[in-house]
Amino acid sequence: MKFVDEFRDAAAVRKLAAAIALRVTRPWIIMEICGGQTHSIVKFGLDELLPPAITLVHGPGCPVCVTPVELIDAAVALAARPGVTVCSFGDMLRVPGTGIDLLTARARGGDVRMIYSPFDAVALAARNREREVVFFAVGFETTAPANAMAALHARRLGLRNFTLLVSHVLVPPAIEAILSAPDNRVQGFLAAGHVCAVMGTAEYGPIAARHHVPIVVTGFEPVDILQGVLGCVEQLESGRTEVANAYARAVRPEGNVRARKIMSEVFTVVDRNWRGIGRIPASGFALTSEFSGFDAMQRFGLAGDALPESTECISGQIMRGVKKPRECPAFGVRCTPDRPLGAPMVSSEGACAAYYRYRLRKTPAPAPTV
Ligand code: SF4
Repeated sequence: MKFVDEFRDAAAVRKLAAAIALRVTRPWIIMEICGGQTHSIVKFGLDELLPPAITLVHGPGCPVCVTPVELIDAAVALAARPGVTVCSFGDMLRVPGTGIDLLTARARGGDVRMIYSPFDAVALAARNREREVVFFAVGFETTAPANAMAALHARRLGLRNFTLLVSHVLVPPAIEAILSAPDNRVQGFLAAGHVCAVMGTAEYGPIAARHHVPIVVTGFEPVDILQGVLGCVEQLESGRTEVANAYARAVRPEGNVRARKIMSEVFTVVDRNWRGIGRIPASGFALTSEFSGFDAMQRFGLAGDALPESTECISGQIMRGVKKPRECPAFGVRCTPDRPLGAPMVSSEGACAAYYRYRLRKTPAPAPTV
């Protein structure tokens, strides 16, 4: 398949891995931002092709993983209300809040629907005007344009029974937070290509300059990822810290101007609470005052105050690159995809899910207790 096969070519992958090995003279820690990149790395064993001096750590770019527990609890509470239908992408259904997940809410009689597009939720609201339809709008800059279009479409249809439970987060403030943490060890970033396809690359220049880190915009196939790593290593080895684009077939410096315009009509930048990481200033979207009538938190009078998270789950340390999934004592023991303690074990973009799926047999057995 065009744009896939040539970027999974084994010879090209080996050649890039050899080029990286030739260039490296000392240890470097590089973070891939996106959970999709993490899954490619672990699935294709790309980290194992790299010289031992290169450590890849896995960033916070899994939207389900960073959705705060209070919003999951809010969705669960809404699903329990008579006359309310909660619509969500499938990934979100099995993520635990402080109590049950949405799938359990459905098993207990709540009206929870799995959808594939925000427009499915709008259509459902249009067909069922006697019901309140809430769309759980989760995601990064990649899904925000479609969710904004759903709000615009609902307004055009004059729907008064459609709302969004918004949990949109933004990548650059998260990079800033990771780099500003006292225990940060990340020295270079592979930025998420699809986010940059929407937003462009301008936001990353000031971060690279301020924190002296290279940021390489990177795609998702094995060749893409190793090109990103090579670009990062070349900068690190030569003391340069710039923004580079290794995903030029999809990313233009200015991004998708029309998509950004639509987003700015519907959303405004606000502080957001990130699960496992905490509050990050100016790190997410909320509906503008013009669209406040579509805000589920306002419509249903939900507080959304931050709630305590599992003390056993170390997902925050994993998503900041401080630890890796197999360093979590619960990994594969008390936390599995069937019984997840944290979101990264159940999301299709979660780092723990990737290690469980592709690396479980390599996990050392837990130490015997005496
Ligand atoms: S293995 Fe489970 S408990 Fe540990 S960090 Fe991952 S999701 Fe959290």
